[in-house]
Amino acid sequence: MPRATRAIVNLDALRDNYAQACALAAPATAMAVVKADGYGHGLVPCAQALSDQVDYFAVACIEEAHGLREAGIRQPVVLLEGVHSAGDYRCCVEKHYLPVLHTQQQIRWLESLGDQPLSVWLKVNTGMNRLGVEPQDVAAVIAALQRKPNLQLCGLMTHFACADALGDPMTGEQIAAIAALQQAYPTLPVSAANSAGHFLRKQDGDARFQVTRPGIMLYGGSPLIDVSSASLGLKPVMTLESELIATRELAVGSPVGYGATWIAERPTRMGVVAIGYGDGYPRHAPSGTPVSIKGQWLPLIGRVSMDMLAVDLTDCPQADIGTRVELWGDQLPVDQVARHLGAISYALLTGITRRVPRVYRQGGKQTC
Ligand SMILES: *Cc1c(COP(=O)(O)O)cnc(C)c1O
Repeated sequence: MPRATRAIVNLDALRDNYAQACALAAPATAMAVVKADGYGHGLVPCAQALSDQVDYFAVACIEEAHGLREAGIRQPVVLLEGVHSAGDYRCCVEKHYLPVLHTQQQIRWLESLGDQPLSVWLKVNTGMNRLGVEPQDVAAVIAALQRKPNLQLCGLMTHFACADALGDPMTGEQIAAIAALQQAYPTLPVSAANSAGHFLRKQDGDARFQVTRPGIMLYGGSPLIDVSSASLGLKPVMTLESELIATRELAVGSPVGYGATWIAERPTRMGVVAIGYGDGYPRHAPSGTPVSIKGQWLPLIGRVSMDMLAVDLTDCPQADIGTRVELWGDQLPVDQVARHLGAISYALLTGITRRVPRVYRQGGKQTC
C-alpha cells in the first residue's frame, strides 16, 4: 500500500475560481494560465476540467502547449514567452499556438514562415523591464508586422510588476502606458491583468482591457499581499496531505531532527509526518510553520527532512499514528504557510514534486 502522502486537486474549485475570474474580467475575456504544470496541479487534468469554459489557454513555452494538444485540448494556446527558435513558428501555425513576440529576433524569425498564416501577440514593456518591446518602438514593429499579410496581430500585451501590492503607483503608471498605446491603435485588443489585476480598486485603475490572464487565482492562491484568498472569494484547489507515522514523548531539553535545531521547552508529544522536501515541502520551513490536524493548526518543529517532518502534538492529544495531516488546503490556506516561509503560494504549489500523486476530484467523485 502506498503512503498516504498525496495532493488532492479539487477541480470543482478550479472551475469556480475560473468563473470568478471571468465575472471580474467581464466584459473582457479571461485566458486560463496553466503554465508550470498547471501551477503544480497537473496541466492536462486542469485544462480538461476548464475546457468547456475557456476560450484561450496560456502557457510559458511550446512544450507545455504540446502537452495540451496531445491531450486533445483544442483552444488556441498563447505562448507567453514566445518561441525559442525560428522553426517553432511552423508548429505554431500547425497547432494553432499564439506566440508572444517580445524581441527583435523573434520578429526577424517570422521571415522563415513565408506566407503561412500566423496570429501573434506583441509584448510591450511598460516598466517591468523583463520582456517586451519599448513603447516608442511599437509603431515601427506594428508597421513591419502589417506589411506581412500572413500575420495577424491579436493585440498588445503587457505585464505588471507590482499589482500584488494594492495602491502601488507603478500599476497605474503601467495601465496609463498601455492605455496610451491603445489610443493609438484603438482596434487592437490589450491584455494587461494577471490575477492581481482582477482585484484592483477604483483608485488603482482598471486593468481589464479586452483580455485578462488569471493564473494563481484559478488555483485558489491569493494574488494580493496580505489579503486572504477566502476574502477574495477564491477556493483552495490543492489539498496537500499525509499522515502521522510515529509519535514520541519528549522530555524537556530533548532535540528533534537534523542539526538538533529545536529543543523541547515543555514535556512534548511529537509526531512524525510522512512528507518532506523530497516531496516539495520546503526545507526552509521554520519551526512554528502550521500544519492542520483534526481541524487544529499545530506547529512544525525542527528541520524538514527529505521524507519526513515533525510536529508538536501536545495540544492535540487525539492525534495518533495514522491520523491525517493537512500541510495546506481546505483547512489551512497555502498563503498562510507561505507567509511563515517568506514565500509565495506560487512557489509552494509549483514545488510539489512528482513523487506526490495528484488525486483529482470533480462532482464529488474521484476522477483519476
Ligand atoms: C504567469 C503569468 C501570468 C499569470 O500570473 P498570476 O500572477 O499567476 O495570475 C500572467 N501573465 C504572464 C505574462 C505570466 O507570465
